[in-house]
Amino acid sequence: MKRILVTGGAGFIGSHLCERLLKDGNDVICLDNYFTGSKRNVVHLMDNHYFEVVRHDVTHPYFAEVDEIYNLACPASPVHYQYNPIKTVKTSVMGAINMLGLAKRVHAKVLQASTSEVYGDPFIHPQVESYWGNVNPVGIRSCYDEGKRCAETLFMDYHHQNNVRIKIIRIFNTYGPNMNLHDGRVVSNFIVQALKGEDITIFGDGMQTRSFQYVDDLVEGMVRMMNTPDDFCGPVNIGNPNEFTMLELAQTIIDLTGTSSKIIFHPLPQDDPKQRQPDISLANEQLNGWVPKVQLKEGVNKTIAYFDQLLKTLN
Ligand code: NAD
Ligand code: UDP
Repeated sequence: MKRILVTGGAGFIGSHLCERLLKDGNDVICLDNYFTGSKRNVVHLMDNHYFEVVRHDVTHPYFAEVDEIYNLACPASPVHYQYNPIKTVKTSVMGAINMLGLAKRVHAKVLQASTSEVYGDPFIHPQVESYWGNVNPVGIRSCYDEGKRCAETLFMDYHHQNNVRIKIIRIFNTYGPNMNLHDGRVVSNFIVQALKGEDITIFGDGMQTRSFQYVDDLVEGMVRMMNTPDDFCGPVNIGNPNEFTMLELAQTIIDLTGTSSKIIFHPLPQDDPKQRQPDISLANEQLNGWVPKVQLKEGVNKTIAYFDQLLKTLN
């Protein structure tokens, strides 16, 4: 049995990861400050004696004897990471330093949840790990993008300077149950709007693209990455290469919910990337043939069922 720390464990992805790690027979500590996460996401795990929840902020040091650390703590939706940009940078950078310091002290292996945002508004398509990206250092997305880029740097430097065993994954747009009702990212926004019969808000002309991954595929990739040999650190892209425009996504959600909602257009936010698609050859090669299995309609249907239930319990 391994003792595993998951920072951001009460968030969308973290809660699925905690559940998976417990299912695999591990002892799991879920650490969260509940900025965007919620106890509701992990309450069903609390009867398990091998599960602990700790209210803590990763910008402060934390100590526990653990074998592995998954560092997910950081708001991920533009609405939330732009709410307090200085805090977002602190969470990424100081959170990374604190978790790397802990890993160094207790000889734990540590995985960083990095992001496709390190590629910014990319000139290379699809994005390969060797591409350095096109990121605005002084824009409204910079607190997140540059915070995550600096965290990657810290991970590599702790590895080279202090021999800390590290893993870096770059996660592409992921969705699924346990997303916050007010998350603000596109899949949950469109689904909640459709279920409430409200207008579906497309930013810009809707021709920008994203490649959407269902959360179960990501969690499988994360666990496989943690278990790779120590000499493989990444970074490695984890995402679903099937690429859609926001108009296509809106139409899919309208069809699957049968809503009478209409599409409306809002201005495109500054620095919004025009296209994004992962090249997943490296993940496929290094993570035992990993490929995403859940396609958009199946994953969106599961997410619609989740929000439908959530909205009914709140009413
Ligand atoms: P989320 O907002 O649901 O989860 C983030 C969690 O971190 C929340 O529970 C939040 O309360 C917690 N948190 C935030 N600041 C904290 C702090 N200072 N101390 C302790 N806890 C803190 O978002 P998510 O989609 O589950 O993202 C999880 C991780 O994966 C993030 O690091 C994010 O950058 C990364 N990621 C996600 C996606 C995606 O599409 N979902 C894509 C790329 C990267
Ligand atoms: N978007 C949109 N309507 C919304 C929310 C987002 O059209 O209600 C767009 C957004 O401008 C972006 C895409 O959807 O082009 C994905 O946005 P999200 O915030 O989900 O992720 P990110 O931009 O970080 O990839």
